[in-house]
Amino acid sequence: MSWPADYHMHTPLCRHASGRPAEYAARAVAVGLTEIGFSDHSPMRRDDFDNWRMRFDQLDEYVESVRRVQKDSTGLTVRLALEIDYLPGHEDWIRELAVRHPWDYLIGSVHYVSDSWAVDNPEDIAKWKGRDPYEVWAAYFDRLTEAADSGLFDIIGHADLPKKFRICPKEDCGPLFNRFLESAQKKNVAIELNTAGLRKDCQEIYPSRAFLQLAAQRNIPITFGSDAHAPVEVGSGFVEAVALARSVGYNRYCRFFKRRRTESPL
Ligand SMILES: [Zn+2]
Ligand SMILES: [Zn+2]
Repeated sequence: MSWPADYHMHTPLCRHASGRPAEYAARAVAVGLTEIGFSDHSPMRRDDFDNWRMRFDQLDEYVESVRRVQKDSTGLTVRLALEIDYLPGHEDWIRELAVRHPWDYLIGSVHYVSDSWAVDNPEDIAKWKGRDPYEVWAAYFDRLTEAADSGLFDIIGHADLPKKFRICPKEDCGPLFNRFLESAQKKNVAIELNTAGLRKDCQEIYPSRAFLQLAAQRNIPITFGSDAHAPVEVGSGFVEAVALARSVGYNRYCRFFKRRRTESPL
């Protein structure tokens, strides 16, 4: 079988990934992938917003580094993309980024549930203490729904990220999932199966089977991403991800070129 494209990987410009882009591409070829996309953490309007992304003055360098890999790769399609943080009020900045280069796709991700708390950041894990997990998840899904509603993104990243540290609400989160999925359906935005969760405390793909079943019922298109922060992670967990997608009824996944979506058999 042929593997779906791996549309989520990083470069050292984000300051928490290792390996040159050419090494990610070489690993992709070695594990039998035919298409990948770089989607590094985009800059914020303010470079001092946090310390885990490229600076704005590195954006052109990022694009050039991906272009070089595109040119040097034979038998491997390489797409140019960004993983952009969605925060309310950042829409104009995201629009500025979107027109700056001919991106193949933009992944919209929510990491921040407030201006200073990224739910997946181990350095912020103490912030969960004394908080009702449901409130945190609800705040996260409010933002995720806004990200889908914004129409700014082609793909929504790692949809149930707050489960990373296994701090999960006792309440039924189905209504939170459904409200997001309703927006994703209305705005025709894809979601990704992100295998990084397999490498974290939660030890499962983002999003969960229960979530993905709801997505499949609505025919929400899907992409696949390893969220590789090192070359060895490219394509990791794809056996499990493809099996999960098929088990809830998916037989197609999507690919992007210059922000146009096409579907391929899975
Ligand atoms: Zn990262
Ligand atoms: Zn992310």
